[in-house]
Amino acid sequence: MVSRVIPVEPFDLVLFGATGDLAHRKILPGLFHRFVVGQMPDTARIIGSARSDMSVEEFRGTVRAAILEQAGDEVGPEEVLADFLSRIDYVRVNATGDEGWDELAGKLRADRVRAFYLSVAPSLFAEIAERLHAGGLATGDSRIVVEKPFGRDLQSAQELNAGLRACFDEHQIYRIDHYLGKETVQNLMALRFANSLFEPLWNSTHIDHVQITVAESLGIEGREAYYDKSGAMRDMVQNHLVQLLCLTAMEPPSKFTPNAVRDEKVKVIEALDPVPDEDIARGQYRAEKGGDGYLDHAGDPSSRTESFVAMKVRVANWRWSGTPFYLRTGKRLRARESEIAVVFRDPPHTIFPNVGHLRGNVLVIRLQPDEGITLRTTIKDPGPGGLRLKEVSLDMSFAEALGADSRPQDAYERLVMDVIRGDQTLFMRGDEVEAAWTWADPIIRAWDERTDQPTPYDTGSSGPEDALMLMHRDGRRWRQVGEG
Ligand code: NAP
Repeated sequence: MVSRVIPVEPFDLVLFGATGDLAHRKILPGLFHRFVVGQMPDTARIIGSARSDMSVEEFRGTVRAAILEQAGDEVGPEEVLADFLSRIDYVRVNATGDEGWDELAGKLRADRVRAFYLSVAPSLFAEIAERLHAGGLATGDSRIVVEKPFGRDLQSAQELNAGLRACFDEHQIYRIDHYLGKETVQNLMALRFANSLFEPLWNSTHIDHVQITVAESLGIEGREAYYDKSGAMRDMVQNHLVQLLCLTAMEPPSKFTPNAVRDEKVKVIEALDPVPDEDIARGQYRAEKGGDGYLDHAGDPSSRTESFVAMKVRVANWRWSGTPFYLRTGKRLRARESEIAVVFRDPPHTIFPNVGHLRGNVLVIRLQPDEGITLRTTIKDPGPGGLRLKEVSLDMSFAEALGADSRPQDAYERLVMDVIRGDQTLFMRGDEVEAAWTWADPIIRAWDERTDQPTPYDTGSSGPEDALMLMHRDGRRWRQVGEG
């Protein structure tokens, strides 16, 4: 396969929080992969920064170890890794003090793209933006990248937006939702808008309902301090699941430009009806024989934080009236699998003798673990003995279809390069985030006012019984995670 990698412009990327988990697991290894394929120009430089007192050589050593851990045997020639590491610098900077800022300013060059990636706690976002601005580091075309979570409710998101916009224009602010960097998620847009087959059917006349599932098999261990204050609604639904819903439900943008795409997504969020309590199932995984449950890790033995949410969401517009979107996400579920399943209406009539009810086609956009697209169809069961029908999946695994040399690109790789290219299409705009909080806030507030516990569910299950009922009462059923 011919690679069409086009180098980006020369850049200085300042990575705040460079000694942290995300930087070492995702951002720096991602940059290395882009370097290997030739996307980083020779003069590009990555300047790591954090409070830790370490030399440039020590920092490079930690980056090297992180890349080796991620890439294993596929790391490639040592000289390529050494070349990449030679582009890395380190400055000790305290985000909440004066230390290091002058040294950082002295390292930045004027004639290149300047990007500041804030891989630090969100409580530091506004202060770092302010110091970049006050120190004259935030030039007119520099970019600032902020990680999730973006606020914990509408008010905090508005405050954060105001803090960032006081120092940077909206076109300079890149709010990451790494789900948007996943190959399949972008493929959903390609599938819908680069093919003529699907779009005429993409409405409530033909689609019965949509299921969006993000299932995790791990619990909250190691992340409890953050998670117990957040819960599944804030951690997953308000951002990732809403984003997936938007890309599935949005009208075709007139162009593939950042604002045209994001305008359409905002319209979807603004069309979401409030979700009544009876359309929501909230769960918390429980301790089982000899095992541990949510409350063993939460730090608060009476925590009412949900580790599972399922809900029926209505997009109140012409296209989707009568076609609900069911969202579901949780921890300690049967498997780590995520997908968008578009369930078409059943054929209206059966012409085949001795064949009962025919089920509608299902288009599955699989996000993880094995990214790909599947279409469930009904065909003739081969062989003699009369005409029998059988459901089979037309299956396209990207890894197989695109060949062995197309290593799946991690979402962070793509997103960091998009920042350098100045392409905001896959980043959330400020009004979009606020619209999502405007929809999510009343749901969370209603839970805060209640005193009951979320419904317990077993580790390795598909979530609490209430979630199954949400579908059953509508005469539908959840797809088994991993059903294909
Ligand atoms: P982390 O491991 O705790 O790293 C935090 C980083 O911030 C460290 O490099 C730390 O280095 C630096 N730091 C802390 N206080 C500082 C200060 N006052 N001045 C300068 N640097 C400071 O956190 P993380 O898990 O990498 O997460 C970083 C961000 O990404 C957070 O916003 C998080 O919500 C988001 N995120 C993380 C993940 C993930 O998988 N880890 C996933 C999605 C989003 P020093 O202590 O040396 O200063």
